Amino acid sequence: MELKCDFQVHHPLGGASYVFEHDLINYILRKVKKDKIVISIGAQPNSSPHFGTLCVFSLAFSLASLIKSKSCKEVEVLFEVVDTAPSKTITVNGIKYQMDLKESNKMSESMNDFEEILEYYSKKNNIKYSIRNQNEFNGQEEIKNILSNIVNHEDDVKFLLDPDNGRLRMRCSCLECGLVDKEGINTVIKDNIIESFCPNHGEYKVDYMIESNRVEYNTPLRNLVRAIMYGIINDSSSYDYEIIRITGGDYAGFYQEELLYKASSILGYEANKLPMIVYCPQILDWSGAKLSKSLYVKEGAYQYLPKYVINYSYLRDKFGINGLDVIIDETKLWLNEPYRLFRNYSVYYFIKLFEERYNNGIK
Ligand SMILES: [Zn+2]
Repeated sequence: MELKCDFQVHHPLGGASYVFEHDLINYILRKVKKDKIVISIGAQPNSSPHFGTLCVFSLAFSLASLIKSKSCKEVEVLFEVVDTAPSKTITVNGIKYQMDLKESNKMSESMNDFEEILEYYSKKNNIKYSIRNQNEFNGQEEIKNILSNIVNHEDDVKFLLDPDNGRLRMRCSCLECGLVDKEGINTVIKDNIIESFCPNHGEYKVDYMIESNRVEYNTPLRNLVRAIMYGIINDSSSYDYEIIRITGGDYAGFYQEELLYKASSILGYEANKLPMIVYCPQILDWSGAKLSKSLYVKEGAYQYLPKYVINYSYLRDKFGINGLDVIIDETKLWLNEPYRLFRNYSVYYFIKLFEERYNNGIK
């Protein structure tokens, strides 16, 4: 089969693209009460950022810049570094332990790329940014009560957050060697205490009412805790800013409805007070699946595509850092004409944009 294409781009309206066809910014501005807005993005810095991440980050800066130009608000971007993601996994006695990224060299290498991109987007959009790791996020005072509330409702939310096993995936790494009981097999949460086991150093305990900064989660639980924390900040006069999140479109829909909004409701947090999440269009392969960095790395997928649509290091090799301008222009366009925002784009759409900018002849 030969894939055919007429290069005509259509934007059929439906759902949010119908409702927000011409304007999203004024809708956002009507909802935000405070004078300062923080736009939050997150990623696991385990390699050079993949193409989808470049789009998410650019969309955050484009949104910040557009809000700033249409209001008197101060707007910044916050990069929440998910340094508690695994850098490697080992199995001891049939139990999986992970070593966090924060303990590995892999993270410092890829953070150079992340910082280079943030710096570039920041300058191009005249928007400041800051970087925060999980330790700082979880060290916030309010986290303690959020965790306590979740633990008290464990039976009500555990199958929402971990449908296969019904385990509350709240865990802490061993202070001695950094290993974490990834699936919580030997982790017991009782009142305020998280009891865990290290294959090298034996049992250890963490009281999250004292050391909440040491707590780590699986992705659904982290998503829930983060949303609740942002909601509390947005609703509190003790904080002079409100947070809006930007994340990839693969999290939109069923995932958030079931794992975030229903879980929050069970815990007694109003959905209306959770932060707004703007989803970035996904970049899809020929079959309509999102481009996956790990499939490329582990299984050699996408050999038929130019490498620069895989990750930032290839893009920089090909075009220099200015190659990011193609993405910046596109994410600005999505926000200026938001009927373009509430949909996904094929990787070929982006290849065409790069070819138009750089006069064809790209392999
Ligand atoms: Zn240990």
